[in-house]
Amino acid sequence: MSLPLDNDGFLRRECPHCVDQFKWHHGPANAEAEQQPSPTTYYCPLCGQPAGPDSWWTREQIDYAGGLMAPVAARMAEQELKATLKQARSKYVKVDLRGSVDTPETPSPLVEPDDMVIVTSPCHSYEPVKVPDDTSGPYHCLVCGQAFAV
Ligand SMILES: [Zn+2]
Ligand SMILES: [Zn+2]
Repeated sequence: MSLPLDNDGFLRRECPHCVDQFKWHHGPANAEAEQQPSPTTYYCPLCGQPAGPDSWWTREQIDYAGGLMAPVAARMAEQELKATLKQARSKYVKVDLRGSVDTPETPSPLVEPDDMVIVTSPCHSYEPVKVPDDTSGPYHCLVCGQAFAV
């Protein structure tokens, strides 16, 4: 699955704690960032709570992933059903599956608008984030959780 980045290379994220959205830079933002080990925990820039790298999917991204899986799941369910019916068939029981299970459409790709503003923490400036422009901070460093004002 590939998720869209905005024109600055940022990926939309949603905090599992405060359920607000922000963006982090996808991949190393610069040469300094490339030298850093990837953190095992990220801190929400908005509420400062930590969570593992896989905890930040937005509702749209989860729906999209589910939508991609739905046709696959439907096809598997249909095959299983047909196999079960084949086994159940005997001269006393006549069952048949007519037509096919409705296969859901593959969802259209997500689009990432160029919204939000870039902020960088003084402690880990190589890891910029984007925050909604109707927020005023203080924000928290993505890498260490340290609060900072902009
Ligand atoms: Zn949060
Ligand atoms: Zn920091």
